[in-house]
Amino acid sequence: MSDPLRSTIKRPPEKWIASAYANQAGADTVRTYLQNGWSLGIACKKCPRLVEWTPPELAERSSGRLDVRIADLIPRLSCSGPEGCGSREVAVFPHLYDHPWTWPPEAL
Ligand SMILES: [Zn+2]
Repeated sequence: MSDPLRSTIKRPPEKWIASAYANQAGADTVRTYLQNGWSLGIACKKCPRLVEWTPPELAERSSGRLDVRIADLIPRLSCSGPEGCGSREVAVFPHLYDHPWTWPPEAL
């Protein structure tokens, strides 16, 4: 059995994070990520925090709005939660999800 929490996601080089901008995500949408089996990596620009939104989390958080562009999600993101620094400056990147994932779900 694989550990559902295990992930190989790593923080990108700091230089890349510092220069990342929202439109870098281009036309990629939530659907793009789900179809490719990508997690959304969210790296805070102000502290060393790295958060992974796995495909199941991304699907849940988008509430079925699959055509939302990742670039449009970015302004709504922040380094939140108990360990967060509260900064709204984040860099996002795709990470190939480390666990089995099929989209759309086979039942549909
Ligand atoms: Zn932070």
